[in-house]
Formats: sequence, structure tokens, C-alpha cells
Amino acid sequence: MLELEAVSKRYGSTIALHTTDLSIVQGWTTVLIGPSGCGKSTLLRLMIGLIQPDTGIIRFEGASLTTTSILAQRREMGYVIQEGGLFPHFTARGNIVLMAEHLGWDKARIHRRLEALVTLTRFPSEALDRYPIQLSGGQRQRVALMRALMLDPSLLLLDEPLGALDPLNRYELQAELKEVFRSLGKTVVMVTHDMGEAAHFGDHIVLLQEGRIVQQGSIRDLVENP
Ligand code: ADP
Ligand code: ADP
Repeated sequence: MLELEAVSKRYGSTIALHTTDLSIVQGWTTVLIGPSGCGKSTLLRLMIGLIQPDTGIIRFEGASLTTTSILAQRREMGYVIQEGGLFPHFTARGNIVLMAEHLGWDKARIHRRLEALVTLTRFPSEALDRYPIQLSGGQRQRVALMRALMLDPSLLLLDEPLGALDPLNRYELQAELKEVFRSLGKTVVMVTHDMGEAAHFGDHIVLLQEGRIVQQGSIRDLVENP
């Protein structure tokens, strides 16, 4: 579904990502894991098209991810950046429906989709009119997820989606999120630095170190061939 061929990225003299090949398989959850600074976010940003690679090519559903087609392709991608990235001056509802309104969806369609997402993520309806600052960490994460899912993207990219949560909330949302992914059958790419989280979500785990993929496979492959 998403293919990276000989992709590399540097920032000044820092090589954030050495020449890398990677395939994201449809219907799987792929987890990118590694210590801080190993290039996880860079890899995810390249996949979304937020940044351009210095070398190599990225293909999404067979088509090169270039600046000319990026807007159409982005619609097929939902993403949650670190800390959720909600707009503080929009309510939860406002954040979620922003893109759909921009695309000219009619009110009834937006309403139906919103209802479905609220049910899916078990978000309290009465909190839809609150602003991000008035929501709990777990609620904010759910809003960010609903926003990413609003346009029903074929690919979901999540950068530390549970990162801002305390351990208890984290544990609870982790279980729910897995159920959401399973029920939607989506292709997911998730960044984390937590091995427990990688094991919980990952059908395929990609281990990064200093800008290189050092190992990849199922959690079983990784445990049996450390
Ligand atoms: P991770 O997400 O694994 O913590 P990043 O992809 O954010 O790693 O960063 C990889 C490397 O690239 C780090 O050394 C980081 O400091 C550097 N880096 C990331 N973004 C930038 C940037 N915008 N400008 C300069 N260096 C950057
Ligand atoms: P991560 O937790 O993924 O490593 P950071 O907190 O390091 O992310 O980076 C946050 C933001 O700062 C990102 O937009 C990243 O591109 C940028 N950044 C990271 N490292 C550097 C750097 N060395 N110089 C400039 N910008 C950086």
C-alpha cells in the first residue's frame, strides 16, 4: 500500500534517515519503534508527505507521493501528530468536522459520520462542544483520532498517539484503540518508543536505530531473534 525505496533524509549535517526501503502492508498495523532521535517521526512525516525525501521514492497505492498529487493522496491518509495537534480555538466538534466542511459535505452526512465516530471511540457526546483545553488527555486523543478518521482514510498514521497520557489512561485507551483498528480493518502506521505498546498493536514491528532499520518482523520474530 505504501512503499519506500532508497529513501533518505538529512537536516543540515544530521542524517535523520539513512537510505531506507520499507513496505507498509495493507490491513496491518506497522509499528515504528526506537529511542528518541532515531528517526521515527521523520519516517512518518515522509510517509504523510509533510516533508520531502532527499533521495529515493515513496509510492502510495502505486503512485509516487509528489507535490502535484499530494492533496488527493492526503485525503486517503488520516494522521495524528504528537500531542494530538488540535486547534485550540475550535471545539472538539469543530476540530473533527473541519475538513469535511471544507470539502463541502452536507450537514446530514457530517452529522451521521460524527455520530458513528463518537460511538466508535466512546466519546461523551456532551463534550463535543468543549474546547481542547477543557478536555481530559484521553478525550483529546479521541478527538484527534476522530478527526483523523472523519474522511474514512485508507491509511492511518499515528505519532505517539498515547504519548501524552498518564499510565492508567494509556492502558485503557490502548485496549480501546486496538479494538477500533480491528473493527475498521484499517492499515495503520504507528510511532512509539514503548515496547509494550509495540507488542500490543504491531502486526509488523520496525526497529530503528540512528536513522537505520536494524530489524523488522512480528513481535515473535523480534523476541526469538534479538
Ligand atoms: P524520533 O522521532 O525517533 O525521536 P526524529 O525523526 O524526530 O526522531 O529525529 C531524527 C533526527 O533528526 C534527530 O537527530 C533530530 O534531532 C533530527 N531532526 C528532526 N527534525 C529536525 C529538524 N526539523 N531540523 C533539524 N534536525 C531535525
Ligand atoms: P521527537 O519527539 O519526534 O523526536 P522532537 O520533540 O525532537 O520530536 O521535535 C519536535 C519538533 O522539533 C519537530 O518538528 C522536529 O522536526 C523539530 N526538531 C527536532 N530536532 C530538531 C533539531 N535538532 N533542530 C531543529 N528542529 C528539530
